Amino acid sequence: MEDLKNRLRQFANDRNWDQFHSPKNLAMALSGEAGELLEIFQWLKEDETIASNISPKNLERVKEELADIFIYLIRIADKLDVDLVREANIKIEKNSEKYPVDLSRGNAIKYNRRND
Ligand SMILES: [Mg+2]
Repeated sequence: MEDLKNRLRQFANDRNWDQFHSPKNLAMALSGEAGELLEIFQWLKEDETIASNISPKNLERVKEELADIFIYLIRIADKLDVDLVREANIKIEKNSEKYPVDLSRGNAIKYNRRND
């Protein structure tokens, strides 16, 4: 993660693009890339999107958009000095408390004790 962060910093600095990389602009760019990911799946049937059935062409496109999303995510975190791995672990812990296994297992509808 650190290597990627530094490589992306260098990439932006070499092109004098850091001036454009405000968290706001990066978040907008990330959202655009998420839209590009959605566009690949748009109108496909559910079973055409799973790993065993996705076309090689679409899988390549998905890889590219995931990389774009990941790159912008890393850049936003870097600009705000956020440790993504740490925050993801904290969020997983929060979700574990919010959605206890005994109440959530097998339920697609998010259920938590606060709904009681
Ligand atoms: Mg893209």
